[in-house]
Amino acid sequence: MTVDPTQDGLIIGVIGAGAMGRGIAQVAATGGCVVKMFDTRAESSKEAFEFIGGMLSRAVDKNRMSSEDADAAMARIGIVASMAELNECHAIIEAATENLDIKRKIFAELESIVGDDVILATNTSSLSVTTIASSCENPERVAGFHFFNPVPLMKLVEVIDGVRTDPHVADFLFGLGKRMGREPVRVADAPGFLVNQVGRGYTIEASHLCAEGVADFVDVDRIMRDAAGFRMGPLELMDLTAIDVTHPATELIYEQFYHEPRFRPSTLMKTRLEAGLLGRKTKQGFYAYEGGKQQTPEEGAPPPYDGRPIWVSGDRAGAQSEIANILQGAGANIDSGDQPGDGSVIVVAPLGKDATTAALEENLDPTRTVAIDTLFGLDKRRTIMKTPVTDPAFVDAAAGVFAADGTPVTVIRDSAGLVSQRILGMIINIGCSIAQSGAATPEDIDKAVTLGLGYPYGPLSFGDTLGANKILQILTSIHRLTGDPRYRPTPWLRRRAELGVSLLTPES
Ligand code: NAD
Repeated sequence: MTVDPTQDGLIIGVIGAGAMGRGIAQVAATGGCVVKMFDTRAESSKEAFEFIGGMLSRAVDKNRMSSEDADAAMARIGIVASMAELNECHAIIEAATENLDIKRKIFAELESIVGDDVILATNTSSLSVTTIASSCENPERVAGFHFFNPVPLMKLVEVIDGVRTDPHVADFLFGLGKRMGREPVRVADAPGFLVNQVGRGYTIEASHLCAEGVADFVDVDRIMRDAAGFRMGPLELMDLTAIDVTHPATELIYEQFYHEPRFRPSTLMKTRLEAGLLGRKTKQGFYAYEGGKQQTPEEGAPPPYDGRPIWVSGDRAGAQSEIANILQGAGANIDSGDQPGDGSVIVVAPLGKDATTAALEENLDPTRTVAIDTLFGLDKRRTIMKTPVTDPAFVDAAAGVFAADGTPVTVIRDSAGLVSQRILGMIINIGCSIAQSGAATPEDIDKAVTLGLGYPYGPLSFGDTLGANKILQILTSIHRLTGDPRYRPTPWLRRRAELGVSLLTPES
């Protein structure tokens, strides 16, 4: 292949001028490429051209671009009325409707139009690049080029090597992505590629937590935002993307992975989809939306602490002293005996266990026991978990004392791994399974997830920050207690945790 992605006069074809195609055309043009845009619906191309013009003039107004550069970029974009007019392109990016038959037809037709050395890329988000390429006479020239919405704002692009993609083709797209002002990462073809695979961990596990009645959706969102530091809770995120997009994509990834349990969808997502509670766009999802604003139920005030003695388990010494500090600060009546006194609230801090198991394993009275989640520290929001038999007066005393310094408290029902441990365990484990498969480098896994999903860390660095050993312990314990194989730790996680090395450690 002779074409250089940085060469002057590079001509890029864009097929499909919808939400994605117009964004791709915009960043290609601002990157100095000549762009030829084709859509079967002529108005779509026209609207796209006007839309890009509007975007660039806004960039000029905000001093992010000179008007000369904006005019020059617009002058590089042309609309073509037929695919045949893409014959002079050096590379073509297909961003047509997500439908395998449509894409196969487009690629077959393209092969009859363009020369053998022209690169063909698909922006598909859920179809296999290998499958799309397989209908081509020359599948080696086909690769995935997966942009994120809205393209001009989302820096990430996944460059996907299909099974038969010539590595030079992906190299070219990597360079082209940079020229388009993107941050490319290289990924081998797999269901959900990289970002959409990791993102499942967040939304699927949250849906399971709600479906199991562990916590309601507002509480799961509050915990993940406040305690775990995510920009959006998983349920409000599903409202934003809309469940008629999220759930079918989840089902597809699950099917494509031959029912890998980590990706098992929740019935909650399906029933809400069937009920038409799609999210923001229908004004009712998990939340109601009025005037485009999310209506979040008020958080109830915590009960006042009634002065009952509080005893903290020493099973995890670090957690015990962290909790004791907070209790001291709150002026709590601390029971510092070796065993809890008769009327004391019992506090345990399990990793990957439910409150019931923690109480029984430590020989503690489950009717007085609550668990607290220490995975993310106790500064921002505290999650208190009761056993099925914890006396409500003891739950109230625990909620009251842990809220006494003004830190919000969320009370949930019993669950091995509470909320944040389950969700983070899942995200980190999926990141590890991608690393294990060699589909992307550890650095690219983290880079893609922080850029594409905006998580505070990529999954591997998240594991390192929280402690790979803790995550291994959490998953091993949840797996043991639930018997659900979706929690089984990946070899990547287990080996690195046991060796005491970073989860970013590549194979030697
Ligand atoms: P869209 O519905 O906004 O646009 C699709 C466009 O393709 C429409 O204008 C339609 O007229 C046109 N089209 C349909 N058949 C065509 C054909 N045979 N030839 C030329 N044009 C044709 O869809 P979108 O959201 O822009 O998605 C496009 C692609 O990008 C899909 O593969 C999708 O999976 C992928 N993608 C979407 C997103 C997203 O968030 N929307 C993110 C990443 C990738």
